Amino acid sequence: MIGPEDGEDFTVRTRPTPGQDFGALLDAFAELAAAEGAAPDVPLVIAAAGPIDPESGEIITANIPCLMGKRPAEALARHLGRPVHFVNDADAFALAEAISGAGRGHRIVLGAIIGTGVGGGLVVEERLVRGLQGIGGEWGHGPVAPTRVKVSPIEIPRMPCGCGQVGCADSFGSARGIERLHALLGGGETDSRAIVAAWRQGAAAAVRTIAVWAEMLSGPLAMAINLTGASVVPVGGGIGTAVDLVETLDREVRSRILLRSKQPVVVPARFGAKAGLIGAALLGARLSQETTRPADRP
Ligand SMILES: [Zn+2]
Repeated sequence: MIGPEDGEDFTVRTRPTPGQDFGALLDAFAELAAAEGAAPDVPLVIAAAGPIDPESGEIITANIPCLMGKRPAEALARHLGRPVHFVNDADAFALAEAISGAGRGHRIVLGAIIGTGVGGGLVVEERLVRGLQGIGGEWGHGPVAPTRVKVSPIEIPRMPCGCGQVGCADSFGSARGIERLHALLGGGETDSRAIVAAWRQGAAAAVRTIAVWAEMLSGPLAMAINLTGASVVPVGGGIGTAVDLVETLDREVRSRILLRSKQPVVVPARFGAKAGLIGAALLGARLSQETTRPADRP
């Protein structure tokens, strides 16, 4: 069981994911569950990338092709003989941060993932707001990119996004987005880590790229904060581990939100890469306690 104080202290067993073979995936989960030796009524909660429809149980994930469009919770529950629940990994991250991490003590927490992509999860009074088809808290998609940016000498074209739209926060706010902005601003083709390292050393091109990135991304994030009333935004993903980048984004966001706060609002997440696991475990613990009230599940 994971408590608020010991969330980072547990053993992680790993297996390669059989992404193409559903039967092998079921067997891998069965093996891991058996190794834990948990009682058969203890639910297995799986945090996975991609939206999961809380009504139908269907999952859309490009990372694990054999799960695409399936209802894996039902099949796994039959295979394992125990209750199985899937949760979106950004939602699990947000729940972990809200209950035991950087959002602890706040009533409304918007967990923001900024790294490979831009996404998030919304937690209100320690409960996930999953919303229609699981999209609650997903602030990364929608045509919101400004083309005129104060700190940019040139107009920034709206970039295509993997979701099919143009100008999403995901398209310019992610690690790849930082690289695209850097190239657009004349900095050349450079890895996002190298851009951030150059920014830390005060290199002019990188300083400009990060200033443009922070100004552009702070707009949609400020809107998300105004809309949800979140008083804290723990940031996970690759950017969440760069405390100085999060501080830069926080300054930009606080100049744009309606909430007047002298405290940081956008803060580094506490749990890093383990947040998904911790959120899934917290959800599992809650589901075990609430089996008599299925209609009230988080
Ligand atoms: Zn998009």
